[in-house]
Amino acid sequence: MATLAMNGGRKVRTKPWPAVGRRFGKEELKQLKEALEQNTLFYIYGKKTEQLCSKMAKTCGAKHVLACSSGSAAVHGAVKACGVGPGDEVVTSPLTDAGTILGVVYEGAIPVFADVDPTSYNITAASIKERISKRTKAVIVVHLAGVPADIKPIVRLCKRHRIKLIEDCAQSWGTMVDDRWVGTFGDVGIFSLNDYKHLSAGEGGLIVTDDYDLYATAWLAIDKCYDRLTGARNVSFVAPNYRITELQSAVGIAQLGKLKRIISRRHRLGERLTKGLKGIRGVSPHKVVKGGYATYWYYLIRLDLDFLGVDAPTFGKALNAEGIAGSGRFYMRPVHLAYSYLRQKTAFHHSHYPFTLARKSIKYEKGYCPNAERVAEEVYYVPLNEWLSSREIDDTIMAVKKVASYYRGQKQSGR
Ligand SMILES: *Cc1c(COP(=O)(O)O)cnc(C)c1O
Repeated sequence: MATLAMNGGRKVRTKPWPAVGRRFGKEELKQLKEALEQNTLFYIYGKKTEQLCSKMAKTCGAKHVLACSSGSAAVHGAVKACGVGPGDEVVTSPLTDAGTILGVVYEGAIPVFADVDPTSYNITAASIKERISKRTKAVIVVHLAGVPADIKPIVRLCKRHRIKLIEDCAQSWGTMVDDRWVGTFGDVGIFSLNDYKHLSAGEGGLIVTDDYDLYATAWLAIDKCYDRLTGARNVSFVAPNYRITELQSAVGIAQLGKLKRIISRRHRLGERLTKGLKGIRGVSPHKVVKGGYATYWYYLIRLDLDFLGVDAPTFGKALNAEGIAGSGRFYMRPVHLAYSYLRQKTAFHHSHYPFTLARKSIKYEKGYCPNAERVAEEVYYVPLNEWLSSREIDDTIMAVKKVASYYRGQKQSGR
């Protein structure tokens, strides 16, 4: 058995991990110059936001696209447009970003978490069904890490129960099922342009839908309830200013032009990793649903910790010592455990609103979503990006093979 680099053995990889390359260049500069030359950066007066939206509509195949200030703002706008209000329940995934649920809570609704599939880490029709009640107004499916949820049965389930379906695609630019973009299966989809995502405009969000009324309401919801479609000034509900600027839209246009190259590279790297991990005992690849096209914002390797007899942080440290990037600590803890405002029901000052409106008190505690809780403890997080090559993937596979075999051996020899 090869000695781990961590214990003084030879490293699998001695070359440094590739640095992140340049994301912005002359394409963005040209767009920004044009935006500035408009002599206005307001999204209604300039052309860049409109151009970004029509380019996105064409790219993803949705009828209407609305731009706003962030992915969180986009979810909030979508939630409002779906008619969610105080006391309603919204079913979503516990493995997600704060942005998925903040709009739900701001609207006075109760986030209800469905458990994830233990191989794709996405919620499923079956797990959502268990959480549906008379109060359920909407489902927010999070397509985690650029890996699609099994969306078709979820669409059927929501239709059957007359529940609105929002797709959170912040981590899933260009992710597809049967050649169709995720974000276009449900009633409304959202994307993020924050600096960490596949595409960056610094900050930004997009709402995509085929439903005109939903689009019109979402627009009110992200722009102070000012009606930009008709010019009317009947402020009929409270809505924040979640507007985008022409500068962000200009960068977004240039970034969208680079999408294809970015996602096809990430797709290839992820697929290569999946192929190479197959057959290594004690580890499982990130599973993609049949017909799915994953664009891997990152990649999760599931570890069978009992079988390997090691914890994920140690496994991660061993891989790092072999010269591999990544972490045995998943950056996402299930939000029902991680967020004290959920655990203690203290979203707002001196009040337990909106949780006081719940039909029955939900206990955001350990055991609520056991798969998600285990996944968070049992994965090695591989940070993929488009500047990696097959070499990094092959080194990762080799190192996983070595480290897994070492711990299997240790376990068998009873150490
Ligand atoms: C990033 C992210 C968001 C929020 O996007 P912001 O632009 O940062 O507000 C929402 N949902 C998921 C799943 C995300 O990863």
